[in-house]
Amino acid sequence: MAWLNRVLGFFSVDMGIDLGTCNTLVAVRGEGIVLNEPSVVAVKKGTNRVLNNGTAVGWKAKEMLGKTPGSIQAIRPLKDGVISDFEITEAMLKYFIQKVNGKANFAGIGPRVVIAVPSGITAVEKQAVEQSAMRAGARIVYLVEEPIAAAIGAGLPFSEPTASMIVDIGGGTTEVAIMSLADIATCESLRVAGDDLDEAIMNHMKKTYNLMIGEQTAERIKIEIGSAAPVGQELSIEARGRDMISGLPRKVVVTSEEIREALQEPVNAIVECCTRTLERAEPELAADLVDNGITLAGGGALLRGLDIVLQNATGMEVKIADDPLTCVARGTAVFLENLEQWKDTLESNLDQ
Ligand code: ADP
Ligand code: MG
Repeated sequence: MAWLNRVLGFFSVDMGIDLGTCNTLVAVRGEGIVLNEPSVVAVKKGTNRVLNNGTAVGWKAKEMLGKTPGSIQAIRPLKDGVISDFEITEAMLKYFIQKVNGKANFAGIGPRVVIAVPSGITAVEKQAVEQSAMRAGARIVYLVEEPIAAAIGAGLPFSEPTASMIVDIGGGTTEVAIMSLADIATCESLRVAGDDLDEAIMNHMKKTYNLMIGEQTAERIKIEIGSAAPVGQELSIEARGRDMISGLPRKVVVTSEEIREALQEPVNAIVECCTRTLERAEPELAADLVDNGITLAGGGALLRGLDIVLQNATGMEVKIADDPLTCVARGTAVFLENLEQWKDTLESNLDQ
């Protein structure tokens, strides 16, 4: 059958998908990252019906939101690292797979697909992702645990007999894993990540200024002036929202110091998850980590000073992966290139 797959592979695109809680990225063998869209679907409010014949997904869904009144609802089907709605997740995967596979679809040959899924999802959810991809036209589907894809994308010695530690901070979940010899030794999937940092900023604005701000404004404040530890010059930014008492629009100036204070609780939760995982590691693996350090991936890795806080808490060297937002997707692409060699590892991960 291997020869048949090789022949079919010649006509179809093989793709690696990072099914993230915030962003979905698709990498194609030989082409790199070909799709990078928000994991958002627009449905008619109160239904499961994806608008525009199933095409209101990703950027299109986000665009519609700003411009259309109350009858439209935006859904992030993986928001908390669990699949809240199978049908909507399937619609989203289908749209992305078919968008990338366009030409080959014409020939009727489905792609081979590697999908990185949060390590916290259940066996039932894994099966649902696999079946969704098959229904979306995939010929073969392999699932890989996100920390493994992140480690490969970050260029860690994932299959060697030495331990490496990856902390992938996404929107809905933080995945912390220690791995060695192509397998995960210890891992924890924490439901505190980028979204919780945004929420902490929203709460701070409410408590301190009686100002309601939107999620996107909170995220912008985090990205522009947010930090976990003092780094360089302190900054400030104007934030607009609605006054909770008068109900009228208002703006205030917030500083990086107060935002750092507001972010402390979720940042501590992430750091504690890392120390817990380290404490659970076998002594030999812990010993390797003294040399290999910790690598940060995912969008949350870009929060200023987070590496410093983690370094201080663990006493270990902390590095940020190159281009942390694309790390997992690039990892799935490398997996594709080594599919024959790593197939068994992939399938055994699926069985866990
Ligand atoms: P997921 O894998 O869950 O889809 P991503 O790895 O794509 O998540 O990361 C998305 C998260 O990273 C969001 O919470 C976003 O706000 C955050 N993020 C992106 N850029 C930055 C930045 N420069 N500083 C802090 N957080 C960031
Ligand atoms: Mg991710």
